[in-house]
Amino acid sequence: MPTEFEPIIGLEIHAQLLTRTKIFCGCSTKFGTPPNTHGCPVCLGLPGALPVLNRGAVELGIRAAIALDCHIELESVFARKNYFYPDLPKGYQISQYELPLATGGRLSLPESGTDVGITRIHLEEDAGKSLHEGFPDSDLKSYVDFNRSGVPLIEVVTEPDMRSPTDARVFFTTLREILVSLIVNDGNMEEGSLRCDANVSVRPVGQSALGVKTEVKNLNSFRFLERAIEYEINRQIDVLKNGGQIIQETRLWDASANRTSVMRSKEEAHDYRYFPEPDLPLLRITEDWVDEVRRSLPELPSATRVRLIANYGLTTEQVEQLTRVRPSLATYFEEVVEAGAPPKAAINWSLGELTRKLNEEQTDQVKVIRQRVSPIALAKLIRLVDRGTISGTIAKEVFEKMYITGESAEAIVEQDGLAQIDSVEMLAETVNEVLKQHHDAVAQYRSGKSGAIGFLVGQVMKATRGKANPKLVNELLRKAIGR
Ligand code: ADP
Ligand code: ZN
Ligand code: MG
Repeated sequence: MPTEFEPIIGLEIHAQLLTRTKIFCGCSTKFGTPPNTHGCPVCLGLPGALPVLNRGAVELGIRAAIALDCHIELESVFARKNYFYPDLPKGYQISQYELPLATGGRLSLPESGTDVGITRIHLEEDAGKSLHEGFPDSDLKSYVDFNRSGVPLIEVVTEPDMRSPTDARVFFTTLREILVSLIVNDGNMEEGSLRCDANVSVRPVGQSALGVKTEVKNLNSFRFLERAIEYEINRQIDVLKNGGQIIQETRLWDASANRTSVMRSKEEAHDYRYFPEPDLPLLRITEDWVDEVRRSLPELPSATRVRLIANYGLTTEQVEQLTRVRPSLATYFEEVVEAGAPPKAAINWSLGELTRKLNEEQTDQVKVIRQRVSPIALAKLIRLVDRGTISGTIAKEVFEKMYITGESAEAIVEQDGLAQIDSVEMLAETVNEVLKQHHDAVAQYRSGKSGAIGFLVGQVMKATRGKANPKLVNELLRKAIGR
């Protein structure tokens, strides 16, 4: 029988902390400014400059650690990780090594039910950015931008607990969602503020010892993460089936070629010569501080989902749609309900018109809507539909106008004469007109084709620009036809 292999995956994630200033100096962390405009002796590594730890960065690290069920280490140590690279002006990166900020956490994956252990979370500084392209003399020179040098990061290291590329993707999306919801990280993978390296190995099913792993870098999208792991699993299985051995090495994902290739082997692995950072004291965190941060944490996304289902009778699918892409839509939804709208109507609006509008505006920022149509204003619009003042179709028109002008639903309905026509007198003439013009449909209806009534109702609705009360129109037509 051919050997079956089981993949094993562990992830290492770097997340930029959303502080205004860098981790050891007062320079700005703002992204997208001209190169080398945020630098000082500390983050440029000039001799004699002394680092001072940013308290805000530590607090964000604690937030993440609590959310991931970690044990917060009340004493942790910064260390120098030594290596030479042009984007690292000091010749070492300040990180945490033997004694990290937090250890022993976990994150449960909603779909597969897998529990992924969090080995550790530590604080560190980012390096600068080498630019190898985009200059007239790029074939001769590389350039360095130090704006990113000294920007605060946490590194989250997982246990080798994932068993498929999907597991890894779900873990990463779930982690991203948590960090974004806690305002620890902005979740922006294109700008590199969230980065993921994957450690992959395979072993014969039934074997308990782990196989030799490779580490795959350069995974800056969910799709690449999944594809690169998939590729790497298949590559390793191929090697083993052909009698070869996996070599421990670092590989690079090449998105255009759809493959991984060797970046450096174990022999070339850096010896980082870690040692405690002499310029920074022990990082001490008090229990009180941890408690304070714990109390200030907002509800985690998984808890929000459970609550939305329990409180408003939403389906799992509705909740997924409401929270996955743009979590602030869930807040908006709840405020609409709080303002008096029935949950059923509120969810239809949220997943219907509001989502359509956000797509149209190409944004995930619900505040774009909120600024012009507040949850209270939308609740009032919904009430007009409920009371039968306007139809659902007209309501969409009114919403559009509210979005453009910021006016109230009542004002727009009033100004534009959009209120539903539900008086017999006002509709009688139109109904007669439609009957006169559509003898065919009337005859069809009389001969038993009950569907023909729908066509006639449609004609009256069209003639009244959607304002007629369809139920009443239906009644009037039936009466007039005499059936
Ligand atoms: P290294 O010494 O190369 O840094 P670590 O043991 O510190 O390796 O683990 C780094 C990452 O690799 C962690 O996310 C861990 O879960 C993962 N990992 C370790 N061993 C394996 C393995 N055999 N297969 C897959 N992932 C692994
Ligand atoms: Zn600086
Ligand atoms: Mg390690």
